Amino acid sequence: MCIFCKIVNGEIPSNKILEDEHFMAFHDINPIAPVHILIIPKVHVECFQDVNGEMMAAITPFIQDVATKMGLDRSGYRLVTNNGADGGQEVPHLHFHLLGGGRLKWTHLHHDNPKESM
Ligand code: AMP
Repeated sequence: MCIFCKIVNGEIPSNKILEDEHFMAFHDINPIAPVHILIIPKVHVECFQDVNGEMMAAITPFIQDVATKMGLDRSGYRLVTNNGADGGQEVPHLHFHLLGGGRLKWTHLHHDNPKESM
């Protein structure tokens, strides 16, 4: 069972912000911004490439509610999902990083050497 499935079933503790029947939001254990929250579906979907439109439609208002609850709806935030190896995905359970709480730079999203031939 993956680490986020263990968080969903309570085997691993998390610092939870919001939960409903289908989705869960909790603080990232290793934040890269003043506010860094992970939002996941409770069912195991490996990555964004595997998610269907129905789940994306349902998770959208949940993410918006988390942003509002954290006071980010007006100040702004960044929503990121890393997909697969080149995307830097480390946990193979779909998750959205909600980043905010200060003016964000763009650096975390770049390739180490953007001019390098791939
Ligand atoms: P990614 O690289 O997109 O797969 O992001 C995985 C994220 O999960 C990283 O930001 C980690 O800090 C975070 N993470 C890993 N384990 C835990 C955990 N037990 N509780 C909260 N966040 C975690």
